[in-house]
Amino acid sequence: MRSRSTNRSGIVIRRRVTPAGDIIVTLLTPQGKVKAIARGGVRGPLASRLNLFHHVGVQVYQTPQADLATVQQAVLEGALPRLAEPGRYAFAHLMAELADALFQEGEFSEQAFELFAGALRGISHQPDPEWVALVMSYKLLGLAGFVQQTARCARCGAPHPEHPDPLGGQLLCWACASLPAYPQASLDFLRNVVRRSVRVSMEAPVPGDERPALWQALERFVTVQVGNVQSWRQLVPQAAAVST
Ligand SMILES: [Zn+2]
Repeated sequence: MRSRSTNRSGIVIRRRVTPAGDIIVTLLTPQGKVKAIARGGVRGPLASRLNLFHHVGVQVYQTPQADLATVQQAVLEGALPRLAEPGRYAFAHLMAELADALFQEGEFSEQAFELFAGALRGISHQPDPEWVALVMSYKLLGLAGFVQQTARCARCGAPHPEHPDPLGGQLLCWACASLPAYPQASLDFLRNVVRRSVRVSMEAPVPGDERPALWQALERFVTVQVGNVQSWRQLVPQAAAVST
């Protein structure tokens, strides 16, 4: 008979404490997303191990009666303490919420895990965590199959669109647009980020004053395409919330 106890190694992307003192965590692992409960965890040694963004090895036990697997053991395998810094935490949180929205439980994706782990490392170590978050958000979306249409106007299909699409976060042609065209660096980013390697994108950051428009496009695109991302939307940098 197969054991119902399994070992998983992954990163905590969501953590909630119930009034009863249980900790409910969602881990992103190379074998997919795992949701489990540590009963009474708040009062035990698991509390500090099952923290957001920690890389942990867990042993979980699943019974047919319970909808949630139970965390029996957790071992800390890695942590990125700099993610707690102001200016980094919000971007890490944004990535975790996006990964949670994009990937389903039980969906096997080693690539998603590697990309997400790389995003957290970049946000922790790089001098420009905002740029890491923008690049990696589009890379994660691309991996999940959500790719912006950049070759044709999202409204009429005309070629070479260069203007923001305030409703869908894609691109519009000059005839359909109500906003001025994107600057060249932003256009280059939107057209190529999904195909380009992370390294190449990291070497060509878009100037800071162009980023609010990119965040806004990302917010619209994710809201329309992925849906059900309320908690994620609240984390998108404030500048992106300016209405058009
Ligand atoms: Zn058009």
